[in-house]
Amino acid sequence: MPATLLEWSVPAAILLCAVGLCAARFVGFNTLRWGCALACLGAGYALMLVQASALSPYKQVVEDAFILGGVILACRALQSRRGSQISPCFDVAVLLASTAMVVVSVVLFASAKLETFFVQACCALVTWRATLSFARQAVTTSDRVLTAAFLFIALVLTGQCILYVAAPIPPLATGEWRTSVWGILIQYTGLLGSIVLTFAVFIATSCDAIEKYRRHAHTDALTGLLNRQGLDSLLASVSGRLFSDAATSTALIMADIDNFKRINDDFGHPLGDMVLARFGALLRPRADARIHAARLGGEEFLLLLPAANLESATAIADEIRTSFVSQRWAPHAPNSRFTVSMGVTLVQAGEPFASALKRADDLLYAAKRRGRNCTAAAEAPADAGHGRRAAGDNAGSEKCCAQI
Ligand code: GH3
Ligand code: MG
Ligand code: MG
Repeated sequence: MPATLLEWSVPAAILLCAVGLCAARFVGFNTLRWGCALACLGAGYALMLVQASALSPYKQVVEDAFILGGVILACRALQSRRGSQISPCFDVAVLLASTAMVVVSVVLFASAKLETFFVQACCALVTWRATLSFARQAVTTSDRVLTAAFLFIALVLTGQCILYVAAPIPPLATGEWRTSVWGILIQYTGLLGSIVLTFAVFIATSCDAIEKYRRHAHTDALTGLLNRQGLDSLLASVSGRLFSDAATSTALIMADIDNFKRINDDFGHPLGDMVLARFGALLRPRADARIHAARLGGEEFLLLLPAANLESATAIADEIRTSFVSQRWAPHAPNSRFTVSMGVTLVQAGEPFASALKRADDLLYAAKRRGRNCTAAAEAPADAGHGRRAAGDNAGSEKCCAQI
């Protein structure tokens, strides 16, 4: 019986999803692989509707290879998000095994049920494998969205396999299979899986794009550190609020390169930019999930060290300062040494961050007044936080280390 318009709507809708994903590439979305996977799947479903019983078992082999091939391509697109090379051996082995089983089912047993079961089981196997290995490393929102979509598809495929084994299905010939409730079930679950996958890919790709542009907006292009906007956003976030709420204090190191205007004037802006980039590079290795480094603007930088005391923060500031002084600037300024001044303080529990930042800035200018190339460090005065201070604190006292 020729396929009805309603039946053709299934591969048509899958191919439409494929076209949408491929076309999204032109607006900058990296969805071509997903589009190719759905195009392959849609081609398999379209072939299923072509009347060609005389061509059996070749038609079944080709249509099933297209369907399984589409699922394999989608799984590879998922795994490629990790950026690692995926060996094709497993996928090729499953495709060959599935083809062999389809031939046996159609030629030896003339059973469409057996043929469909084997293809579905192979699709379920590759989907579970990709889903489980991807889920273990899923960290971002987009990863989780894709994991949920693949989990849904894997469960639907597995449910279908169980249904095929458990349900009493009459022995239908290959031609009757497509129009039976079992054949229709396969077509509509294929359509449902394709729609779920398309939505998940678009949501995941949009999340990736938002995250990418947010990171760009929060990153200083010259040094790769947080910029002012990034710092403000960090401080507004839950982890940022912890800096002043935590029981253990956070240390602030504010740094300003000395006589930077003169560096620009004497050697030109390109060397000035190089000095900024190198100073940023001295801070960057310290920045991890907990420690944050920012360029506040111009030649001013900030390092946030949670759970640090004044002594350890001052030692870190001096280490950065001395390694900056020891930098060589060949070939532009081979005989020049550039210096930096530092202000170090602690954010007391309950103290507004802006107040601690102002104190670090005041200490930095105290270091400048003392002749530059030195570190001034002090804790907060007693009334900075909620008055909770340990006995023996040298509140507000200021130390300036020796210059080198
Ligand atoms: P002080 O020791 O008191 O800090 O003096 P200074 O010369 O370092 O400070 P001042 O504020 O007078 O000059 C800062 C200069 O930094 C002025 C500005 O042109 C320069 N500057 C700001 N942003 C950049 C940048 O991105 N690249 C370069 N090359 N220069 C910059
Ligand atoms: Mg300066
Ligand atoms: Mg300055």
